[in-house]
Amino acid sequence: MIIVLLGPPGTGKGTQATAIKERYGIPHVSTGDILRANLAQGTPLGLEAKAYMEKGELVPDALILDLVADRLTLPDCQKGVLLDGFPRTLAQAEAFDRALVAQKKAIDHVLFLSVPEDALTRRLAGRRVCRGCAATYHVDFNPPPASLVCPGCQGEIYQRADDSQEAIRNRLKVYNDLTDPLIGYYREKAYLREVDGSESPARVAEAIARSLS
Ligand code: ADP
Ligand code: ZN
Repeated sequence: MIIVLLGPPGTGKGTQATAIKERYGIPHVSTGDILRANLAQGTPLGLEAKAYMEKGELVPDALILDLVADRLTLPDCQKGVLLDGFPRTLAQAEAFDRALVAQKKAIDHVLFLSVPEDALTRRLAGRRVCRGCAATYHVDFNPPPASLVCPGCQGEIYQRADDSQEAIRNRLKVYNDLTDPLIGYYREKAYLREVDGSESPARVAEAIARSLS
């Protein structure tokens, strides 16, 4: 089972991924999470990605394609994968399709989560994330404990550098320019399933379950 989660930053892809991966027993592969882990560990990939990420720019396709190819060869991906944050450009989508064809595999579903832009900005600006387990909180909708210690893993809860107002504006523009065209690309291939992401996380999860069954 290969599922691609598509949608602008702030639509709740990470939140929904948890429920989907449990339902299908497939790993959640988030290119953003992998890059942030590399950044935290100061690996060469992390150092190269840092400046792009902090400004809300995309990391070059070649780096991402290597990263994803490596991740997908690990044993846990053999029964499938839930991709979150990849593909993000037409070039990535085409390269991924070629790689799948070569392995006689195909995407099963592309889930497009849509949320109006003003709501996205509000969600992103208030978002806080755990460094340990990537759990997300929101200052208004799901406030983190005052200690900023994650109840799940004791990790530190922080605000991502790219959740600043300026980086948010840039990420939404980059999404509209480079990632939004993937909707047409996947609609043509008939993989696309669109779900309204503006309801509560539980309601969105129900809508996703309906659309995948
Ligand atoms: P978002 O909340 O914007 O969806 P992610 O956590 O998926 O954020 O990604 C954070 C950053 O990591 C992006 O702004 C970009 O710099 C980089 N990144 C993640 N995935 C990709 C990708 N597939 N291609 C290029 N850059 C990526
Ligand atoms: Zn945690």
